[in-house]
Amino acid sequence: MRPFGGHDEGMANYQSKGLERMRELGRRGGENSGKTRQEKRAVKILVGYAAERGIDLTAALLDSGPAERLNRSGGSHDTDWRCPTCHHFSNIKRRLCAICGGFAPRNGRLTRAALRERAAEHRTQAILRKHGL
Ligand SMILES: [Zn+2]
Repeated sequence: MRPFGGHDEGMANYQSKGLERMRELGRRGGENSGKTRQEKRAVKILVGYAAERGIDLTAALLDSGPAERLNRSGGSHDTDWRCPTCHHFSNIKRRLCAICGGFAPRNGRLTRAALRERAAEHRTQAILRKHGL
């Protein structure tokens, strides 16, 4: 047993999350699965449309491939965040930009992973637009 007053912050504690926090998590999960469903439906429509008109999507779909793959050389930098001022990427453990010394945004630092996801989404939208969808 721990001495009196000892408290393990790392331990899983249901009560510390609270009802509101759990509701928030539930909402977020719902939004995420909704987004995935929409994306899957968009791809399904796109592929069906292309097949009907004999459009070869292989190049377009392959084009979005490499960006999804993680670069493991020299370790992952997926959690590096982009400086809003000078666009230099700094390690997630840093609070200040390594180049210009500017503060990282307090909420929602844009990581490489987040930026890559955004780019992939933009590519999908561009493909849909190109085919008038
Ligand atoms: Zn900077």
